[in-house]
Amino acid sequence: MVDAASEKALAPVLAEIESRRDELTALTQDLIRFPTINPPGEAYTPCAEYLGQRLARRGFKVEYVRAEGAPGDSDKYPRTNVIARREGVRPGPCVHFNGHLDVVQVGAGWTVDPFAGVVKDGKVYGRGACDMKGGLASAVVAMEALLDSGMALPGAIEISGTVDEESGGYGGVAYLAERGWFSKPRVDHVIIPEPLNVDRVCIGHRGVWWAEIETLGRQAHGSMPFLGDSAIRHMSAVLEKFERQLYPALASRHSDMPVVPEGARQSTMNINAVHGGQEEGFTGLPAPCVADSCRIVIDRRFLIEEKLAQVEGEVKAILEGLKRDRPGFGYKLRELFHVEPTMADPEGPVASATASAVEKILGRKAQIVCSPGTYDQKHVDRIGRLKECIAYGPGVLDLAHQPDEWVGIQDMVDSAKVMAVAAVDLLTR
Ligand SMILES: [Zn+2]
Repeated sequence: MVDAASEKALAPVLAEIESRRDELTALTQDLIRFPTINPPGEAYTPCAEYLGQRLARRGFKVEYVRAEGAPGDSDKYPRTNVIARREGVRPGPCVHFNGHLDVVQVGAGWTVDPFAGVVKDGKVYGRGACDMKGGLASAVVAMEALLDSGMALPGAIEISGTVDEESGGYGGVAYLAERGWFSKPRVDHVIIPEPLNVDRVCIGHRGVWWAEIETLGRQAHGSMPFLGDSAIRHMSAVLEKFERQLYPALASRHSDMPVVPEGARQSTMNINAVHGGQEEGFTGLPAPCVADSCRIVIDRRFLIEEKLAQVEGEVKAILEGLKRDRPGFGYKLRELFHVEPTMADPEGPVASATASAVEKILGRKAQIVCSPGTYDQKHVDRIGRLKECIAYGPGVLDLAHQPDEWVGIQDMVDSAKVMAVAAVDLLTR
């Protein structure tokens, strides 16, 4: 909790944040206007420089780190990250706010220009408004207001804008974490303003296992399929087993992880893609062939109570069972990538400071949650070996990646206040 002296000093900071509502809105609009679509990683450098130049004017020491050699990095699409640090009046802990600059593709169904930063009815619209330029802007304005207040704070404040979160973070937080940017003694506490809702503190996320399964067959003329062996029919046997065995098993597993939405508080699996037989995208008539290959890509999300080996093992057991029982069945299984589940201590400093700041600002108890999907916390935890990392930000979780994505201006102002209170608490405790 914030002590009485800090409490008194915080009142003008909160008033200052309130008065910067329009500035916060404008910063969010400016960030949205960089179309940082990933893939391929558009406009990363100008967006990082915009942020860096702003923070440099506020006395931050700004460094740019290009993730050379990271997936997707090229002279055309450089993976440019920005890290800004401002030292306090004496040594102490460092609180780091990390936002990803990249956004997902636009997709269909928009009623506003996704990169115009349209403001309407107290909301800023645009691709990335919610996930997570509104959150990053809130952190920036919160820290600027805090520093401008002249409060004599120890330690250091860092703000980073990093890339490629949407594609795994390998050119962003992972790259930086491997080089010590997200480890002690440089950093002690990390808050990632991902859109988990203004009154929720997110302490972690489920694990991920992406894999490709290929069933094998033998090609023949489609008018005499009995002369071949259809890889697609073999795949249908795999899908049938998933329906009958795997999905019910996954649905029966429950977790102590407080995942939201509640539907994700169990193991899940999405079949991300199916490909078999003739290539897609050809507009002519088909040639009759029995498919000799069929592939699916699965996206399995798992709980902290499950082990990766078990997750892989149960899919493998189904495939091996078919190999034994189904004539002609052959398969290949290839892992694409995996991420272990991660969860910070809800009683640890960063989670508890943020939760008590939510209560102070919003007048209601913070909900401690876990995210259904992963985000850059995994790299801070696994590579940076920093457990003190949470996600807290103003956007509405369900809006992420949707058409007409928006962030509420009042939520941004409130979350900026929460971030300022939490930062003071963490720096002065
Ligand atoms: Zn995000």
